[in-house]
Amino acid sequence: MTMVYDEALDRFEPVLGLETHVELGTRSKMFCGCKTTFGAPPNTQVCPTCLAFPGALPVANAAAIESTIRIGLALNCSIAEWCRMARKNYFYPDMPKNYQISQYDEPLCFDGYVDVEVGGEVVRIEIERVHLEEDTGKSTHVGGATGRIHGADYSIVDYNRAGIPLVEIVTKPIPGTDRLAPEVAKAYVTELREIMRSLGVSDVRMEEGSLRCDVNVSLMPRGSSEWGTRTETKNVNSLRSVERSVRSEIERQAAVLAEGGKIVQETRHFHEDTGTTTSGRSKEEAQDYRYFPEPDLVPIAPDPAWVAELKAALPELPSVKRKRLQAEWALSDLDMQAMHNADAIDLVEATVAAGAPAADARKWWMGELARRANETATPLADLPITPAQIARVTELVASGALNDKLAREVLEGVLAGEGTPDEVVERRGLQIVNDEGELSAIIDQVLADNADAVEKVRSGKIAAAGALVGGVMRASKGKADAARARQLILDKLGVSE
Ligand SMILES: [Zn+2]
Repeated sequence: MTMVYDEALDRFEPVLGLETHVELGTRSKMFCGCKTTFGAPPNTQVCPTCLAFPGALPVANAAAIESTIRIGLALNCSIAEWCRMARKNYFYPDMPKNYQISQYDEPLCFDGYVDVEVGGEVVRIEIERVHLEEDTGKSTHVGGATGRIHGADYSIVDYNRAGIPLVEIVTKPIPGTDRLAPEVAKAYVTELREIMRSLGVSDVRMEEGSLRCDVNVSLMPRGSSEWGTRTETKNVNSLRSVERSVRSEIERQAAVLAEGGKIVQETRHFHEDTGTTTSGRSKEEAQDYRYFPEPDLVPIAPDPAWVAELKAALPELPSVKRKRLQAEWALSDLDMQAMHNADAIDLVEATVAAGAPAADARKWWMGELARRANETATPLADLPITPAQIARVTELVASGALNDKLAREVLEGVLAGEGTPDEVVERRGLQIVNDEGELSAIIDQVLADNADAVEKVRSGKIAAAGALVGGVMRASKGKADAARARQLILDKLGVSE
């Protein structure tokens, strides 16, 4: 049972909370020297420390601590001058130590915020904490229909991921987003992803799990000030799913509450295929993780002078950069927002840096290429074409060697793996007909075949020349320069515009 979204929002107000895990892109793991390469053969990036052999001791990864502090600074957090790692005790088959080294009441970064823009409004998301921990291994459940443990014949465990540094970013509860709750959640995760990318601390590939999000949602009746019971949808792994999972959870909870039911505090799973969540583990009984300070590690005490240096060296943050580029490219808020939503800003920027005019770069990425990305459900940045190649195509158009139609064919060839733009032009024979003699011959034939249109143009109906230009374009298979052809036609017929 669900309630339609609008009705749900007429009766209830949502409160959000987001916990985001970001796998850091350090070369080695958090507490040992093992490599962190994604996709390596199972259990080849392991050692006595990350497999928790008795007596093996952890040593903290300085680069991971630095990255975490930079993330905290970018999120306007205070940085602890002294904090400790903690043991979080629980059993998981893919966690060899039976405890996770994490942080408890002494996070490295705390009390920050990030502003996101939704529908022209700025929404401030307050950050409660940013802390550092280690990732678990990865279980694969084989033989069942769902890939989950229930119904599986057996499970296998890969410990390559065990011990990879993981940063957890936790928001404070976010009330007041009202009908925009799903969009705000998505905008927040999008902004986080861009901040991580600009800092260069993670590849933030949601599909590979290097950025994953737990989405908390609760509802309260309109006019009430008492927050409802929340559910936590775990490991949502695409931006679109963040938005959909909030929406579907609001609809589900509203229906339960409207019938007089109670929301159970539990974890839930989001299903991409149905766009709905199902119940996972009940959290009605608080877990007792028996946290205590990790005795095998020294406390972390970042020198404030070093933190100040890191802060001064932060790169231009995405929101600042967007404002700058919008001004440079003279775009409306709406156009800029569309580019942001399409994840095209960095691509257009790189294309401009490779020599293309901004308007052209934007035209191709937001037009032809966005369409292709959409059709093939590929992120724009993953299309097999580079900003430099787009810049080359715009150069060929500007020099008159290609028109827009031919340029589209060149892009198609590059996307199909036929080589660079110049190679595609060569192989497919896509040069514009620049040879005056060849063009003239084509025009003569078209004029001979279209006596009616010729007569109209001669008698002053210049608009009829359009049909003749169309004929030339067809006869040349799109390779004529339309403006040049039009001029030649008018010359040949002895009329001027
Ligand atoms: Zn190791």
